[in-house]
Amino acid sequence: MLYISREHVHDRLDKEIAPAAVCDSGDTVVFQTRDCYDDSVTCEERPLGDRRDTLENPATGPLYIRGALPGDILKVEILTINLRSWGAMCSSFSYGAFAGRFPEPKAAIFAINGDQIRFDEKLTLDCCPMIGVIGTAPGGEGIDTATPGGHGGNMDCRKIGEGTALYLPVAVQGALLSLGDLHALMGDGEVFICGLETAGEVTVRVHVLKNCRLPVPFLLTADKVMTIQSAPTTDEAGRKAVLRMEAFVREAAGISELKSGMLMSLAADMSICQIVDPKMTVRVEFPRKILAQYGWEAI
Ligand code: CA
Ligand code: CA
Repeated sequence: MLYISREHVHDRLDKEIAPAAVCDSGDTVVFQTRDCYDDSVTCEERPLGDRRDTLENPATGPLYIRGALPGDILKVEILTINLRSWGAMCSSFSYGAFAGRFPEPKAAIFAINGDQIRFDEKLTLDCCPMIGVIGTAPGGEGIDTATPGGHGGNMDCRKIGEGTALYLPVAVQGALLSLGDLHALMGDGEVFICGLETAGEVTVRVHVLKNCRLPVPFLLTADKVMTIQSAPTTDEAGRKAVLRMEAFVREAAGISELKSGMLMSLAADMSICQIVDPKMTVRVEFPRKILAQYGWEAI
């Protein structure tokens, strides 16, 4: 199996970055990732990290998929996410709902034992591993790994986890897939500034889809489909995610605009993924069992 080690990291999704590995459509690939602090925050005494030359939000890759051409869609099945045995969280003075509250940088380290997080002496939390940064290279200028967008990137959507499939646009030859910024656990909104930031190994299977129309970035889970959109405000991101899902539902079900709008109001759920990145991210979820009644099947 193809393995991309944590040595192959970068802080941009950019077509100018040389591929770390090359594979075929249908192949399974393991990405070894670093955490969003470039693995430099290892103790509470040094909240700014152990060293200076760190990357912000390093992503592992890029993976070049043979046969992927601009206009195709890349399907990324997330098979497993294996986390290391600890995670870190750092405060922020500038971003998130608590901006201005912690003038001194603070860090906390939490042990991860199997699927349990030791929060303190009294509280353990269940892990729900997710991928914060996952995207393809955009067609134009590169985009830093802190910023989410149409290419994916730092979407911080807690639903991007094991057993799901993420559909991303292919804007350049080979698609150039990168991922990183694993969280052992994160709530919708990521309100403090971070999830439980950790590193690990992510196993994915990639497929190049030709002549496929989906409102990417698009997520398929066991029971839902989801549009994920980012914009300067949550209002704008939410509206984009709704409109993209409505157009998808209308076409998939073959119903009128009026009826698909009404059906969205009855069955679609909006959730805020994160409010802490350079753009805000909102997702809209729609039940697969409704689409199945209209004969829609996942690709
Ligand atoms: Ca993130
Ligand atoms: Ca993160």
